[in-house]
Amino acid sequence: MDSCLFCQILEGNIPAKKVFEDDQVLAFYDINPKAKTHILIIPKKHIESGLTTTKEDELVLGHLFLVAKKIAQEQGIEGYKLLMNVGEKGGQVIFHVHLHLLAGGEIDLKNC
Ligand code: 5GP
Ligand code: ZN
Repeated sequence: MDSCLFCQILEGNIPAKKVFEDDQVLAFYDINPKAKTHILIIPKKHIESGLTTTKEDELVLGHLFLVAKKIAQEQGIEGYKLLMNVGEKGGQVIFHVHLHLLAGGEIDLKNC
């Protein structure tokens, strides 16, 4: 999807500081962190939003949570917040599903 920023990151056309990758997902640091650690975990499949997910996305969406746990364990993060903005009215700006992993310091949830 040429018009999607996160698809462009997946394609390697836009740089990102990668944290984790497997066949289904990519995780990278948020460019404008709202906590000491702010990582975005995205499916490799372009899924626009939580508003448009279907039954066939169930496994990959569940996988995002397991990847969050794995990253936290690897980084010695003992507790964290997971956030997904769903739809424009839910604060979603990038229309490629992503899970925010936020930990440490003052978490600026109002601007997430
Ligand atoms: P949303 O508001 O859609 O849930 O979150 C989008 C997130 O993507 C924001 O936290 C924003 O800082 C982050 N972001 C926007 N553009 C880029 C970019 O080019 N690279 C990275 N790594 N993060 C981005
Ligand atoms: Zn996309």
